[in-house]
Amino acid sequence: MAQAIVIGAGFGGMAAALRLRARGYDVTLIDKQDKLGGRAYQYNRNGFIHDAGPTVITAQFLFDELFELFGKKRQDYVEFRDLYPWYRIQFADQSTFDYGGTLEQTLLEIQKIEPDDMQGYLDLLEHTRRIFDIGFVQLGDKPFHTLGSMLRCTPDLIRLENYKTVAQMTHQYIRNEKLRRVFSFQPLLVGGNPFNTTSIYSLIAYLERQWGVQFAMGGTGALVRALGRLMQEQGIDVRLNTEAQHIQIRQGVVRGVRTESADLSADVVVCNADAPEAYLSLIAPEYRRGIAPRRIHSMKYSMGLFVLYFGTRRLYPQIAHHTIILGESYQELIERIFDRFELETSDLSVYLHRPTCTDPSMAPSGCESFYCLVPVPNLQSNINYDRIGPFLRDATVRYLEKTCLPGLSECICEDFYVTPPAFSEKFKHPARFWF
Ligand SMILES: Cc1cc2nc3c(=O)[nH]c(=O)nc-3n(C[C@H](O)[C@H](O)[C@H](O)COP(=O)(O)OP(=O)(O)OC[C@H]3O[C@@H](n4cnc5c(N)ncnc54)[C@H](O)[C@@H]3O)c2cc1C
Repeated sequence: MAQAIVIGAGFGGMAAALRLRARGYDVTLIDKQDKLGGRAYQYNRNGFIHDAGPTVITAQFLFDELFELFGKKRQDYVEFRDLYPWYRIQFADQSTFDYGGTLEQTLLEIQKIEPDDMQGYLDLLEHTRRIFDIGFVQLGDKPFHTLGSMLRCTPDLIRLENYKTVAQMTHQYIRNEKLRRVFSFQPLLVGGNPFNTTSIYSLIAYLERQWGVQFAMGGTGALVRALGRLMQEQGIDVRLNTEAQHIQIRQGVVRGVRTESADLSADVVVCNADAPEAYLSLIAPEYRRGIAPRRIHSMKYSMGLFVLYFGTRRLYPQIAHHTIILGESYQELIERIFDRFELETSDLSVYLHRPTCTDPSMAPSGCESFYCLVPVPNLQSNINYDRIGPFLRDATVRYLEKTCLPGLSECICEDFYVTPPAFSEKFKHPARFWF
């Protein structure tokens, strides 16, 4: 049987391992961490369960497919619950917009703010449908790694106005400033700047409209465990606490992977570790295809995040599962983070996750689990996060207390935070960036 090695047991690596197994390969999956999941790590601190990273599921069929490859049903392994709203957006004047649900529900919310934008939203949705059809259905699995492959796609992409940014495209259809923010923040979910990310990323809005937003009961960690069980049943050899040190290539052909303790031979190697880091440290210079370290270091990277995980010794039933709390300045804040690498500590815009809204078992009885994502400059800035961490923690608590969680400083418990350098160290991303 042909041998395959997959490096990295995040969602990408687990999916690759399962797909190779379904094609008949003998698969070994290795990861340097002690648990499966990569960025979808899960912490359990005295009964407060926190997913470290991803929690929003927008394309559930991609997970279902992994189980169907082996004649199984995802529902028998992990339950997905539909959310409403998908996100609550809270503006600086405390007014809110519940985004999601049926088309009618979204139109009603738009009507409350600006009835004239209802038609604009429908037109925007139609545009994102066309982007989805080409950008996801037709091109989603096409490689863009050569000039030829890029040129072949260019006419389609130009027809979709990919030269416009997400913000420009949204502003073309929506006039109200609050609604412009509601329908253009999505690139921030994947670390992108809506003011310079290509409008192709607007397909996220269509994905949400088409399939809704779900949450895995037990948290994303439960989904990771479900995939772990499936891999075990299918005989995939999972090796944790195992770091790949080198991808062995001879005469242009991959031969295997060297780890601290063994040389593993393989016919196929899939590396789903962070790509820039893999080029820098796992592939010999002569096989980097001209991707020099200088180029990797000077590339433009997404923002970083400061994440505060915490519990509360009281309930906050009025808080939605996903809330985006926007400050006064929005474009200005994004420019400061992405372009000027400046840290803002008072007029924040943050994302607040309250999993206990959907699954109360994620905290002890009478308590809540939360995490709060604060977008910050990435590691291309010179910010000393070790020094500033405690200050950011206090600023975040104060901001949440003022905007949505009254009394937080009296009832907060089990809190801890992760800074961009800590993420970089944990997930083996280069020291310059994080997401
Ligand atoms: C705070 C946060 C919130 C997010 N929210 C969402 C969300 O709600 N919805 C969503 O869809 N996405 C979200 N994302 C993005 C999502 O988490 C990632 O896109 C996804 O998890 C990436 O999976 P991956 O398998 O490609 O990489 P990773 O999860 O980063 O996995 C890579 C793995 O490779 C391992 N590795 C690296 N180098 C080596 C080596 N040399 N040897 C062995 N192993 C190695 C690492 O330990 C890691 O486990 C979020 C991300 C973060 C950080």
